[in-house]
Amino acid sequence: MKTAKLAKSYRIDDGKHFQLKDFDPADTGPLSSEEHAEEHLQEYIARMEELQDKLYAQDCWSILLIFQAMDAAGKDGTIKHVMSGVNPEGCQVYSFKVPSSTELQHDFLWRTNEHLPERGHIGIFNRSYYEEVLVVRVHANVLENEKLPPSLVTKDIWDKRFEDIRSFERHMARNGTVIRKFFLHLSKKEQKRRFLARLDEPQKNWKFSADDIHERKYWDDYQKAYEEMIRNTATRHAPWYVIPADNKWFTHLAVSAAIVETLEELSLGYPKVDAAQLKQLQAARKTLEKK
Ligand code: AMP
Ligand code: MG
Repeated sequence: MKTAKLAKSYRIDDGKHFQLKDFDPADTGPLSSEEHAEEHLQEYIARMEELQDKLYAQDCWSILLIFQAMDAAGKDGTIKHVMSGVNPEGCQVYSFKVPSSTELQHDFLWRTNEHLPERGHIGIFNRSYYEEVLVVRVHANVLENEKLPPSLVTKDIWDKRFEDIRSFERHMARNGTVIRKFFLHLSKKEQKRRFLARLDEPQKNWKFSADDIHERKYWDDYQKAYEEMIRNTATRHAPWYVIPADNKWFTHLAVSAAIVETLEELSLGYPKVDAAQLKQLQAARKTLEKK
């Protein structure tokens, strides 16, 4: 299956006219079943493995994959499945939690730098600085907690944050970090079903958090915040993918297709050896053969 085509229909390069209601969380594209998807998923994972090897050898681009979603949309499962084929040595995952007291002593992007992927690596953010225009926007007390000088907390604070995020991402892109952002788009109905499964199935009890039920009350506020976020921060160099999340098998497939598409666009290749290095290799062969 053409990866570019599958991923492209969920990709937003320019958010100006973006509306969440144009995207169906239950969409499964051209596929009708998990069995059908599995074979393609394995194909994409194998391709990702090949491309990651070149990315690592080339040691110049960095890939940053950002995952944002409502609770139970499947961020963790997607990261686990999709990255199952990649070499852990060239991959790092970081989960952003409620900021610590040290982090709150700084600006909202400060804690990000430390976790950015180095050249040749794939970095995954499970949540990110985008929480700063999501949970922080939905709950006024979270913003109050950030200790900003009151004169700087104006009604256009969110537009300013969008602008700062766009500038930050443009800076990263200009320096060799390829950013791709995934919003796993879950329906309210499917979230309820997954929460109930967490209550009903003993192996899933550990996933249940009372906080999640509390956040669900703010569903509409979050959807609005997500829509605004995508409208304001989807750009050509750091696009959002709005991935249908009601069927996990499709989420995994669409995300892996998007990653393959991203790596393929870089025309990766193994570094070429020059004449002097070639001579060295030949000399090394001779030495080895003598023993
Ligand atoms: P979990 O991913 O379920 O472990 O939860 C992490 C929690 O940290 C979520 O409730 C996020 O909303 C919260 N969180 C992450 N980043 C921030 C942030 N910058 N400000 C406030 N809360 C955050
Ligand atoms: Mg949680």
